[in-house]
Amino acid sequence: MSWLQQHAPGTYHRILFDDRISVERYGVGNAIAQPYNHTILPLASAKDKELQISWGIADFQHRFGRLPQGMWLPETAVDVDTLEVLVDNGIAFTILAPWQAVDDDLDVTVPYRVPLPSKRSIVVFFYQGDLSGSISFDPGTTANADAFVTETLLPRYPEDHDYDPLILVASDGELYGHHQEWRDKFLEYLLNGSSAEAGISTTYPARYLLHHPVQDEVGVVEQTSWSCHHGVERWRGDCDCCAGDGTWKKYLRAGLDGLATAFDELFDDYWQAKGIPPKKVRLNYIEVLLGKQPVDTFVEGLLQRTLNWAEARRARLLLEAFYNRQRMYTSCGFFFDDPSGLEVRYNIASAARAVDLVDQALGISLERHLLPPLRRVHSQKTGETGEDVYIDILVAHHRR
Ligand SMILES: [Zn+2]
Repeated sequence: MSWLQQHAPGTYHRILFDDRISVERYGVGNAIAQPYNHTILPLASAKDKELQISWGIADFQHRFGRLPQGMWLPETAVDVDTLEVLVDNGIAFTILAPWQAVDDDLDVTVPYRVPLPSKRSIVVFFYQGDLSGSISFDPGTTANADAFVTETLLPRYPEDHDYDPLILVASDGELYGHHQEWRDKFLEYLLNGSSAEAGISTTYPARYLLHHPVQDEVGVVEQTSWSCHHGVERWRGDCDCCAGDGTWKKYLRAGLDGLATAFDELFDDYWQAKGIPPKKVRLNYIEVLLGKQPVDTFVEGLLQRTLNWAEARRARLLLEAFYNRQRMYTSCGFFFDDPSGLEVRYNIASAARAVDLVDQALGISLERHLLPPLRRVHSQKTGETGEDVYIDILVAHHRR
């Protein structure tokens, strides 16, 4: 969204506007929030789960001017702890793949309530698995909106029903016009023409919930996702999603986890020594990221006093390091087959930046927590290790 805001402001404002119009017309908006850094939450620490969800909500509220009801989880990766944190933060529903439900006889034309250990619950919509798959991967399905309605959509509605069946599709936004040409026009005509002609009304999760109380309950399968059929293995090790040997993912994650643990200890000690709860600092730093207040004002507000130059600089650097320590977990870095891609480079660059900023702030090098595992991240394509990439990034940085 921050990229769209800068580089495609027209699109950005149409998204905001459409949500506002939806609120005016139906009482609930159609936009849903997401965690801040596209982190695989079941693999994140409890603190990071809380942070990612809390920052995602703050970012959403800042842009849309309202609190979100729903949250889309990165790769729909889920575990019960993540659902608990969603509920802690006032999120009412999420969307998952049908195979993430415990029940094999799942009826995906209705949402379910998922009971949680805390005696609370969250609503889960399960999308149409095969339909979403063919929309995403078979261009023939979406060549013609009229044909799509009669041949693909209508046969999916149960013949006899005394309720409003919901046909829910989940696909990447960039599918429409970017991955597949003209599909933006397909979608436009489907939503504004062909579906209405066939007597199908369009809706979205928050609006559906207004008039359809959720009756059925189901459990979710721990540590599952929409784009790996081996749980969440794709983002931490070798599984059949990976064409080569995916073991490098284990070492990349070990390096990042080692750095994160060492970083958190320094970060927490720093703020505790100043009498400020580190959690408060972490959660509220989003105010600075959203441009609501300058970082120096933010830190002075926490400490209730003015800072000297050196103190202000140290706090600023540590906070920026914390931002990069979150960013280094971006899921795309673990997604593909070989670690030579720019996605892995992005994660390692974020980690390198965090290391550098801590060094500048405190004169402590955290490299030893990151580099030994990175040495074992090995590219079959280039022969480079994760450490080579790390050094390459440092060299490029110093040349600038
Ligand atoms: Zn897999």
